[in-house]
Amino acid sequence: QNQQLNAELDEACFSGCGKPIGLHVNAGLTGALASVERPAVQGIGLYRSEIPFMLHSHFLTESEQFKLYQKVMRSAKGKPVVMRTLDAGGDKPLTYFPMAEANPFLGWRGIRLTLDHPEMLLVQLKAMLRAGVGQGPLSILLPMVSQLSEVERTRHYLEQAVTELKEEYGEQLQAPKLGVMLEIPAMMFQLAALADCVDFISVGSNDLTQYLLAVDRNNPAVSELFDRFHPAVLTALNHIAEQCQTLELPFSICGELAGDPLAVMLLLGMGYYQLSMNPGNLGKVNHLIRRVECADMQRLVQSALSCQSGTQVRDLCLQELNRLQ
Ligand code: PEP
Ligand code: MG
Repeated sequence: QNQQLNAELDEACFSGCGKPIGLHVNAGLTGALASVERPAVQGIGLYRSEIPFMLHSHFLTESEQFKLYQKVMRSAKGKPVVMRTLDAGGDKPLTYFPMAEANPFLGWRGIRLTLDHPEMLLVQLKAMLRAGVGQGPLSILLPMVSQLSEVERTRHYLEQAVTELKEEYGEQLQAPKLGVMLEIPAMMFQLAALADCVDFISVGSNDLTQYLLAVDRNNPAVSELFDRFHPAVLTALNHIAEQCQTLELPFSICGELAGDPLAVMLLLGMGYYQLSMNPGNLGKVNHLIRRVECADMQRLVQSALSCQSGTQVRDLCLQELNRLQ
């Protein structure tokens, strides 16, 4: 069966009703990059830049970052790449950058930390831009955004980085698209304003679930409460998709939900047609998508939204999956 799943990645991905679906890969370690070559995979939907920072014992220099990002850009061979700026803090500590906090997940994480250290942000943006020269379209994604001002402040550094590098690279240097992770619930209510200041959003369903349900995503004591299928999570995802469609704001999803076939049925029904996932999930998600009709999935979403628990939602999705097979 694995062989069949693998062979199915040799062709572009369409739903059973003919809708083109963008499958993208999440990467952070270079091992994950090989799958971007598969014809069904449209690009790298999330490059978690903090992973190499966690594996080193020092803050990477601009030239070290450049080499790394260049490897990533080259591996994509002209397909689009979304690079996320450093999402350190929370569950991703840097040993050489001590952060003692009572509530790390509500504290100095992601864009909050890098905006407090613009020298780190600027170096990273420059290394990413340099790596993008002559390679496939590069987009930059900001983690943990909870204020529109964080986007504006980052844009300022991005423009500074572009200006500084233009002298060296001239017209070869393209200004990247700028997007934010939709992972802090408050941002669901500022989508109209976000649409005016970003080019796209990418839903981080892992953190969105954690912050919506107030459940630590890594704490085994409460792991049963960390329910990605909780009806409130689905309502949130549906709201985001509806709003983005109305606002014509391009949207995708890169949390673990995008790699779970049961959830993918719901995501397709809501209108998420750009999915980024760990390489190991590409085969089964692609296999499923080729067999579903979007209209059936829309009906499934309507039933799921009236469920009272994540267990009910899962059961409903399982029934639908069995019907498909
Ligand atoms: C997320 O929060 O869903 C996400 C994709 O980012 P990370 O898992 O790296 O926090
Ligand atoms: Mg996240």
